[in-house]
Amino acid sequence: MYDVIIIGSGPAGLTAAIYTSRANLKTLVIAGERWGGQLMLTTMLENFPGFPDGVEGPELMMRIRKQAEKFGAEIVEENFVKGDFRKTPFSVHASGKVYKGKSVIIATGADPEWLGVPGEKERIGRGVSTCAPCDGMFFRNKNIIVAGGGDSAMEEAIMLTKFAKHVTVLHRRDCFRASFVMQEKARSNPKISFMLDSKIMEIAGEQKVEKVKLESKVKNKDLQEMINLMKGKVISKDEDKIIWEMPIDGIFVAVGRSPNSKVFQGINVDKRGYIAVGDHMSTNIDGVFVAGDVHDKLYRQAIAAAGFGCAAGLETVRWLEKAETIDRCK
Ligand code: NAP
Repeated sequence: MYDVIIIGSGPAGLTAAIYTSRANLKTLVIAGERWGGQLMLTTMLENFPGFPDGVEGPELMMRIRKQAEKFGAEIVEENFVKGDFRKTPFSVHASGKVYKGKSVIIATGADPEWLGVPGEKERIGRGVSTCAPCDGMFFRNKNIIVAGGGDSAMEEAIMLTKFAKHVTVLHRRDCFRASFVMQEKARSNPKISFMLDSKIMEIAGEQKVEKVKLESKVKNKDLQEMINLMKGKVISKDEDKIIWEMPIDGIFVAVGRSPNSKVFQGINVDKRGYIAVGDHMSTNIDGVFVAGDVHDKLYRQAIAAAGFGCAAGLETVRWLEKAETIDRCK
């Protein structure tokens, strides 16, 4: 029987583990076979406090894990399957085993979203990817699109210039969502160009990605220049839009993330699937807490996730003290 079972091993889960294990709670972290969360797939973090020269995502996660283990947290690299939170002790199923816990912290993070266009799914791993650090090296000297207009799109594009011949950031609107700093970084890179007001309609190619069908708004004043530059072929044209084909070797999709909340039955979520968080990191089930990107649709930063993990850890300690009427003075 564990005092607390933490599901997830990103900055939220492992920070929670530091707090609960340091408070002497018997802590189990269901880390997943690929532990560490999204930061294991990023490169340099420049805005995590305490690292003025930046820190690589995987190195930061190694350090946080080590710290949790130092205080006695037990970390198993097993995949979470399901949880039964209807009665206590709570049951957590992972890789064929069932663990029992007096309390639970859900910190399962979020997974990449896809475009959902024809030709995308069947070409994942054959020219379609959501992870530049993982797959960038396969696109040496190739022409690539990064789809999306947020910070991730800028970050992926910058990273891909290490390998690619040219990277086009393609965004559906006429203005980017990305922060000014990230936009400036991308704009100053001569291997990156930008195509606004353009949507991917279809991804095509014999075996792997060879071309995309695009719908671009005519009001985009750079459109004709881009079509020429990319050796595009116009399929149809009306007053507002042009449908055209662009030859391309690969597409990196960076259109946001969706929370990993579907596996939890009985836990309330909002209409976008984020776990509904109450006061003090609580969920609708007493004794089940939540932390990180699985509930946070606003900040979605590693440091914010770590902060939520800290809060969830402290709340769990308090909740158990109350539930078990632990007297701190004895
Ligand atoms: P995001 O900020 O939600 O941006 C997603 C982008 O994808 C938006 O531009 C959105 O377009 C576009 N999009 C969504 N669905 C689409 C679809 N079906 N087809 C085409 N485009 C679509 O997500 P993110 O860039 O992953 O960033 C997530 C969070 O992490 C943010 O808070 C960000 O600041 C943070 N982050 C920070 C850094 C950094 O500071 N180094 C790096 C990466 C991420 P619209 O704009 O039209 O909605």
